[in-house]
Amino acid sequence: MPLCQSVGLESSDAEPRGDAPGAATSALTLESILERSGTRQLATAAEHGQPHIPSRRAGKRRVTNLSVAREPAQHTLAPAPPSHGTKARVDFVFENPLDGSFKKHVGIVMLLSAYARQVVARPTSYCHFGRDYRKRTLLVTSLVDFHPTEACPTTPCRWARRRAPHPVHLVDHGAEGRNSLPPLLVDAVLDAWVTTHRDWASQFLLIDLFAGWDSMKKRASEKWPSVFVYANDIVDRAGVDMTLDLSQDTATRVLWLMRFAAIRFWPEESASECNVLHFFAERRVAVLCHASTPCNTYSTEAVVVHRTPDNCPRTRQALRDDEMNTNLIRFFERVALARAT
Ligand SMILES: [Zn+2]
Repeated sequence: MPLCQSVGLESSDAEPRGDAPGAATSALTLESILERSGTRQLATAAEHGQPHIPSRRAGKRRVTNLSVAREPAQHTLAPAPPSHGTKARVDFVFENPLDGSFKKHVGIVMLLSAYARQVVARPTSYCHFGRDYRKRTLLVTSLVDFHPTEACPTTPCRWARRRAPHPVHLVDHGAEGRNSLPPLLVDAVLDAWVTTHRDWASQFLLIDLFAGWDSMKKRASEKWPSVFVYANDIVDRAGVDMTLDLSQDTATRVLWLMRFAAIRFWPEESASECNVLHFFAERRVAVLCHASTPCNTYSTEAVVVHRTPDNCPRTRQALRDDEMNTNLIRFFERVALARAT
């Protein structure tokens, strides 16, 4: 068990993540959000006192002393107190490299312990899903009936069974090839989600929090036309609907993404709705938040730079990543898990 984690530590909201070619600052003004969402309803909501995204300057804080990360009192994360939660049916999927350190994040450890019947960890690898290279990945999810083939070589793929090398090495792929989810894996996730809720849900909404190269939306549009997909990423690539930086005001911004999606897909009905989770419950919309959270400080290559051997963050970026994921986990506790505690 590491001596520290970054739960509740101060963070900086300075630069955008430089984790991909073409990374650009997202201008977080209400005007830019309105422009991106392409809606007039949001302007009406803002005029009636709906919450606003604070400016980057207003929320700026600094990490002044990284030694605070070694406070032993920070090494666990307790589950949130029981609450009435929400009636909305929200599920979540975290995805990160299996051999990286994300699985050691105190929030992930807490979820798998405190919510053992509601949250599962599923290791798998891309070579089981049509890719010719072995990228081992871990999905931590509230979809307990999601059962992908266990990661290669624990469960060998077609090449491993023949004791043959995988045709392509992961590092020989470009960034898009390395970081795009295989379509067949997207199918497996969506099938588990839709199957879980098809008896009651009238519609399905997928919020892709870190869309990357948009593999979720691409596949959904091909194979799952009844699933609405709203894609967010800090980098404005093709297919991305919104460019919110979720390392700041994380829970508020995820709720804003849900609201943007409601306005996009149910424009008449959502215009006057104040509580988007209540709207989803009333409308019988099942919601899935997919979070291929950035692995910049969790991957096997990155931990050498960003973390100590016992997984303590030792860079500002690692602190920010841990804090953002803690805030995401707290959010999912409230909207996806609290109703069952
Ligand atoms: Zn394999």
